[in-house]
Amino acid sequence: MFKNEKPFELIVLGPPVSGKGTQTELVAKTFSIPHISTGVILHAIKSDTSHPMSAEVRDYMDNGKLVPTELVNKLVAERIKGEDCKFGYAMDGFPRTLEQAQFLDSAADIDYVFLIKVTDEIIIERMSGRRVCKNGHTWHLKYSPPKNPTICDTCGEPLFQRDDDKPETVQSRLDIYHRETDSIVEYYRSKGMLKEIDGEQHIEEVYYQIVRQMVDDLRSKVGWK
Ligand SMILES: [Zn+2]
Repeated sequence: MFKNEKPFELIVLGPPVSGKGTQTELVAKTFSIPHISTGVILHAIKSDTSHPMSAEVRDYMDNGKLVPTELVNKLVAERIKGEDCKFGYAMDGFPRTLEQAQFLDSAADIDYVFLIKVTDEIIIERMSGRRVCKNGHTWHLKYSPPKNPTICDTCGEPLFQRDDDKPETVQSRLDIYHRETDSIVEYYRSKGMLKEIDGEQHIEEVYYQIVRQMVDDLRSKVGWK
């Protein structure tokens, strides 16, 4: 039916707390394709002692060292050739650099690149409003406020702001995100592959936009107007 034998090779880009992991998971479930992320690949290889790269990956991860980009590329290329990827996959967290995007073009035939767009202001608001208790219950002062902003409604423990959610940390994560991702976004945009999704809506709306674009594209590929 399709000329393209792997019609669902897609990647999802987006800033921290844009919900890209959640959206990638939902799309993967919708089309019965695996959700691939570099974190999951690396952890799987680290624990699979029969894998030839297992010891090397474990050494990097256990010592808190960054896994070199060539090795990550190699492992991603291997993963997307897996039997479960025969119709495609939904990937987030890769590519992280322009070089990785170019590498991916040599290893795969990407069908969709979604960018979940959320402004820095909204990211900062989403993250800086988060409060947690020591039991891991999570609240948001604006989006899911506890009755008392300093006490967990679930367990009564005090609420605090994680270091990761403090404005200065959020800003530096955003700086890294832009430094890494802006060139990838431009790369895919210049190739006409980028599909921009308004990520400032409810999770279901964001999901609907992604699936709608894929379904429209598939319909046009099979000539179903
Ligand atoms: Zn709690």
